[in-house]
Amino acid sequence: MTISSRRPVRAVLFDLDNTLADRDRAFLAWAGWFAQEHCGLVNQHEIDEAVAELIALDADGRTSKDVLFSTLKDRYPHLTEDATTLAAAFRAQLLGHLPPLDVAASRLIDALDAVGIPWGIVTNGSADQLRKIEKLDLVARAACIVISDEVGARKPDPAIFHATAARIGIAPAHILVVGDHPEADVAGAARAGMQTAWLRREREWPAHVAAVPDIIVDALDELLWLADGKQGEAADIDSERFWQQADELVAVSEISIDRPQGSTHPGYPDVRYPLDYGFLAQSRASDGSGIDVWVGSLSEHRVTGAIVTVDALKRDAEVNLLISCTYEEAAQALTCNTQGQQAGILLWRDDHQDV
Ligand SMILES: [Mg+2]
Repeated sequence: MTISSRRPVRAVLFDLDNTLADRDRAFLAWAGWFAQEHCGLVNQHEIDEAVAELIALDADGRTSKDVLFSTLKDRYPHLTEDATTLAAAFRAQLLGHLPPLDVAASRLIDALDAVGIPWGIVTNGSADQLRKIEKLDLVARAACIVISDEVGARKPDPAIFHATAARIGIAPAHILVVGDHPEADVAGAARAGMQTAWLRREREWPAHVAAVPDIIVDALDELLWLADGKQGEAADIDSERFWQQADELVAVSEISIDRPQGSTHPGYPDVRYPLDYGFLAQSRASDGSGIDVWVGSLSEHRVTGAIVTVDALKRDAEVNLLISCTYEEAAQALTCNTQGQQAGILLWRDDHQDV
């Protein structure tokens, strides 16, 4: 688990498909059933092949069902019904194969309920999504359920997250969004000023997504600490003194920008600096040179966060101060600070309101 955010979480929003509802398992079970019942396959090898083909065709649900079933009809003469009829029956069939809420998700939701941290569900799709939530027995338990078709905005549009925050009555900065989709869940929620937890599902974080998740988990019960009543305690001890000292340091220092926004990274020619990058003149970092700074677009001149990096290969650790950066700019800087072996973590200043 990686944690790079320290704002206390007062509400949690879950994505539905492949976060609370195990669509992958439902689809796998449905595909095996469909291959036998509808495609007329009996040989296990043929069934396995058909299942693999169905999973590839489905593309995590992104392929329209009309296209999916038209393709299948060309391949399996056993399918006599037309593609539209097959597509219409699919939703109910998939729902029938949806497994119950998994143990890890159950433990987390029970723990949140036990300490009174409200949680909700925010999902793209139609009112059909509600049937999945019903099947998981979560309708009466969720503090809010927001479905894109009903609010007229789809993830990653920040509007759907803001609508959800308004319904749950908690400021975006204190909401944690938990989801499996890098762009729809993590990047979208980050743009809405929320904290993010990415359910990894054995994948690498995609390089093309500029946002970075605050937390990465392999199972939802890794978030049980949210309900232990201690989150943020250690970080709250005198943390403001740290930022005041950083403000003072920046106030008395001249900023020298040696790598302007858009210039090429000397070590990685395909990486461009997303913001102005430089150092505080006449300051001293642990490597003997000036303290590195990122300078963002906010008009207020103050330190809005810091990035700490460590590189085991180079045996090196560094601090980069973020000056006048929005949270999104901080995320871009963090991505740029995590090239090659180097790993970075974002410390975000609690009181800063830029969203
Ligand atoms: Mg999902």
